[in-house]
Amino acid sequence: MLSLLLLIAGAPLQADPADTAVVLMYHRFAEDRYPSTNIRLEQFQAQLAHLKEHGYNVIPLAHLLAAFNDGRALPERAVVITIDDAYRSIYTVAHKLLRDYGFPYTVFVATDPVDDGLTAYMSWEEMRELEADGVSFANHGAAHRSTSEEGDYASEDERLALVRADVERGWQRLSEELNPVPGVFAYPYGEYDAATAGLLKQMGYISFGQQSGAISTASDPRSLARFPMTESFGGMDQFRTKVASLPMPVLEVGPWDPVVTTRLPKITVTLGDTHSGSPGSRAQTFRQERYEFRVLVDPFGTGQPRKSSAPPARVV
Ligand SMILES: [Zn+2]
Repeated sequence: MLSLLLLIAGAPLQADPADTAVVLMYHRFAEDRYPSTNIRLEQFQAQLAHLKEHGYNVIPLAHLLAAFNDGRALPERAVVITIDDAYRSIYTVAHKLLRDYGFPYTVFVATDPVDDGLTAYMSWEEMRELEADGVSFANHGAAHRSTSEEGDYASEDERLALVRADVERGWQRLSEELNPVPGVFAYPYGEYDAATAGLLKQMGYISFGQQSGAISTASDPRSLARFPMTESFGGMDQFRTKVASLPMPVLEVGPWDPVVTTRLPKITVTLGDTHSGSPGSRAQTFRQERYEFRVLVDPFGTGQPRKSSAPPARVV
């Protein structure tokens, strides 16, 4: 099975319509041995200073959920800070910095590693301490298993039942230990397929992936984009652009399922005027147009562009 994550990054437009947000995703802080999931201390400090100096409104995840569920307005320049996996460096490094800036944040916790007492993770007691200090927690499943993982399943129903059971068990353990934010999920590894995304929606969850992009309240709540913040993607030149991004007005992506079965899938993206932002904003000037292109999937991760890859072709 080949997994393809569509990257529909937000364009750094100047307008600031009030129904958009940028969600940041972190894992580890100042744990320089793990560069693919870590943000270095000086990078993180520079990012937080940038958010404050440039008037970004860092809002709690619950506020963003209320925008989706109840139409609550978002402030301009809204940013949401999320941290996956509950590593100890949240407790030892990140919390004090975030608290000093008064920035709320949410930790997506996979509960099994915590229950197993793995020392890389915070204990429940430490998380309760953070919760008392205003930190919120949310569901990341129990076993930290990819929801699109191939396995030895007798049927698709059995596969989905296992995903459901893991999400339910994660929520149950989290609720026994903390007062988590209901109705929001982060896919482990950012991986999902159309069936599991549909299941999460049916279970009442709004779900986050790990694909880059800004979001709006018109974004598909089965897989909301977040900008991963790591050593190689966390430099200030990139950060400045990412937090200033606005979402592309995507009406439809086909196929929606990020799991593809061919090496050269055809992707169709329809852009249109989905924006309900402030009148006259540049984000409203998109005409409805359809773009078609092929993406060469490289399951061996060589990272080398292949000559057979077709350039993007526009089909209006
Ligand atoms: Zn995770």
